[in-house]
Amino acid sequence: MADQLLEAPERVLSTLNPDGSRRWIRPKSAMGKWWKRRRVVAWLLMILFTAVPWMRVSGKPVMLLDVVHRDFIFFGVTFQPTEVTLLMLLMLGIFFGIFLITSLLGRGWCGWACPQTVYLEFLYRPIERLIEGKGTGRAHKKVARWRVVLKYLIYLVFSLHLSNTFLSYFAGPQQVFEWSFGSPQEHMTPFLIVMFVTALIMFDFVSFREQMCTLVCPYARLQSVLLDRDSLIIGYDEKRGEPRGKKRHHAQDQAQTGDCIDCGLCVAACPTGIDIREGLQLECVACTQCIDACDAVMEKIERPVGLIRFASQNTLAGLAHKVVRIRVVLYPLLLVVVFGAFLFGLNHRQMGEAMFLRNQNAVVVATPEGVVQTVILRIDNRDDRAHTYQMELGAGVEVLGAQFPVELEAYGSKTLNLPVRVAATAFANSRFQLQLSVYDDAEFRTDLHMTLFTPTNLHE
Ligand code: SF4
Ligand code: SF4
Repeated sequence: MADQLLEAPERVLSTLNPDGSRRWIRPKSAMGKWWKRRRVVAWLLMILFTAVPWMRVSGKPVMLLDVVHRDFIFFGVTFQPTEVTLLMLLMLGIFFGIFLITSLLGRGWCGWACPQTVYLEFLYRPIERLIEGKGTGRAHKKVARWRVVLKYLIYLVFSLHLSNTFLSYFAGPQQVFEWSFGSPQEHMTPFLIVMFVTALIMFDFVSFREQMCTLVCPYARLQSVLLDRDSLIIGYDEKRGEPRGKKRHHAQDQAQTGDCIDCGLCVAACPTGIDIREGLQLECVACTQCIDACDAVMEKIERPVGLIRFASQNTLAGLAHKVVRIRVVLYPLLLVVVFGAFLFGLNHRQMGEAMFLRNQNAVVVATPEGVVQTVILRIDNRDDRAHTYQMELGAGVEVLGAQFPVELEAYGSKTLNLPVRVAATAFANSRFQLQLSVYDDAEFRTDLHMTLFTPTNLHE
């Protein structure tokens, strides 16, 4: 059956062999100056990822995404899901920021800051090399079984740590710490989440690896529209390197070839398995490993370093590099507008919110005293202290039952079913404009309107 399969004439994906089987990539490490710089950044980021849930500003977490209580805290400011505009502006700002960074620095995010690259290249892969050796290909297949088991056990410890840290962003580190020492039966849902995330992390770093960048990540797919020919990328200087050829001993022979001696070390070092000499490719995560590998070769053969380097496509083609382009001007402008609107909204945000919710099961009941129907009112306290809320009604309407005043703790919210009674004669064309104001014991006040409908023949 396998003989009948058509083979691709060449490699279609860097992670696949022509027969469709997985091509395992075990890159050779090149510990040059760029790798050392990336290692410093990576370690700082790993420490930061663990530390952020514990960090506080003005007594509140720097970041907490409390999905259960629907509170989202960023830099000590609490947002609720109802603050759609502010959250949308924040997301837009983040998107425009990423667009700007990409158009200036290419895939700097991927190579230097993405958790996938940071943890794979500076935690999981170094552990693998430490335990199994640096062998690639066949040498790697001969690794003793106990070493492989030991590697997976250490992976498991780090993966558990990462999944618990991940949960801390949603539940707070103290809570996760407490859960860690209790029986899983007492907190089954968080326990299952940690197990699931650990399994995902293990799958990713044990098996899936670079395929996350080359096949799954949506950001990678966007590169072709986010980059232009003046964006900084990692590129091979074809003019200088070609025609490639083995190093010759006679200067005259060497003059006939370019600086690339076709040693293949840049390809061997690439964690996504590509050959950067074939030009900019979607799989390139800008990890700089090919630069380090090639610079070491250039030093050895006494040629200037930088045959592979950070450069724009235009620079590599010998054209002038344009720093100021439309997108480089437009994105910062959009960023200023979006963050300006965000800061304005933040400074003028109300410390509460009240709104009518849709009543799917609204029933209209006609009584001798008037028409009764239930409206649903939700009140959110967005302040970090408790408040008491009151209600004020417009003319011609009364609320049955005493539900006010409403006490709400800090960031609390309450949904009330309010049966309202309106005199049948108050309806005009079967409609009545309900007016209601909600206010607290401080400065919050909001006026709400809602149209109530009633059957046309009710007061005929
Ligand atoms: S081509 Fe170079 S920079 Fe790009 S992923 Fe491969 S080694 Fe990293
Ligand atoms: S490492 Fe440099 S010299 Fe060697 S093949 Fe790559 S580009 Fe050519």
